[in-house]
Amino acid sequence: MATGTLTIDLDAIAANWQALNARTGNATETGAVVKADGYGLGAARVARALARAGARRFFVAVAEEGAVVREALGRGPEIYVFGGHMAGDTDMIGDLDLTPLLNSIDQLTRHFEALPDSPFGIQLDSGMNRLGLEPEEWSIVAGLALGQQPRLLLSHLASADDPDSPQSRDQLQQFHDMTDGLGVPRSLAATGGILLGPDYHFELTRPGIGLYGGAPFADAQAVAALSLPVIQTRVVEPGETVGYNATWMAGSETLVATVAAGYADGLIRAISGKAALYSDGIRCPIIGRVSMDLITVDISALNYIPVTLDILCAEQGVDDLAAAAGTIGYEILTSLGARYTRHSSGGALS
Ligand SMILES: *Cc1c(COP(=O)(O)O)cnc(C)c1O
Repeated sequence: MATGTLTIDLDAIAANWQALNARTGNATETGAVVKADGYGLGAARVARALARAGARRFFVAVAEEGAVVREALGRGPEIYVFGGHMAGDTDMIGDLDLTPLLNSIDQLTRHFEALPDSPFGIQLDSGMNRLGLEPEEWSIVAGLALGQQPRLLLSHLASADDPDSPQSRDQLQQFHDMTDGLGVPRSLAATGGILLGPDYHFELTRPGIGLYGGAPFADAQAVAALSLPVIQTRVVEPGETVGYNATWMAGSETLVATVAAGYADGLIRAISGKAALYSDGIRCPIIGRVSMDLITVDISALNYIPVTLDILCAEQGVDDLAAAAGTIGYEILTSLGARYTRHSSGGALS
């Protein structure tokens, strides 16, 4: 077998959900964001593990993702759709009991006409200018929308990962101005918002990245481990080069291993020459360019030929790999490719 093995620790996901849940008071419920196939780790298994941990409200980006999560969880748990009610979604929303977060007057109209008795929430724009009704629009339609009994009023913070950003305070004030006294449950905080403190918690939080072991939840347990099979090793003599465009040249005799994964598997080219692979905790730097299906690694530090090398492990987590690539853990996780063999550990009943 020459594909990598991606191991997903479902007990760590459950522990991360419980740890984030413990950061908020009893009046605040903790939801779970499982969009983008559970941040690349498998929406069905992740959602089941979170439901066992106690989550009852789930969030996805689009109705199609909601269908996968409904299939995994069965009837009962609430599944919110951030993208709202799009043309063509009506059957899926109705049949699968999804709860769209309506973003615009168009979506409100579509939903009330097509599924007048179906649950919905409303997404409000408190300053991010991405999704949701603007304050002026909300002031026009609030009366009508509230008459249809929304389940949730939601908004999203643009800079919650930066505790010093004044934008979060401004958005919090805007959200209060738009929703105070309406008697509808509210949600403002994703992972970063939970960490900003109780002012941001309201009735429901909706962490994503923190569940999967990523920043800004510094206390998260690692969830993803990725190990890659070594296909071949060779000795490279001083003056010889390795890989496309000969970007790396041996200064001394070097033992080089070639492993079976590359940028087509989400190990983006930007980690070339920056990140490392590990064998029993020993660092083996990536040398030369990451190619589509292969990565070359200097394993001279080892006094044995490894069967596999680890690229996500205790020594190098998703945020470390992201930093090496100049990106964020979210992008590393959601880029992990389809070729890996995915295993889950923990999650007794999965
Ligand atoms: C993705 C997303 C979340 C989850 O955010 P994390 O930073 O991963 O916790 C919450 N709310 C909305 C609207 C989102 O798009």
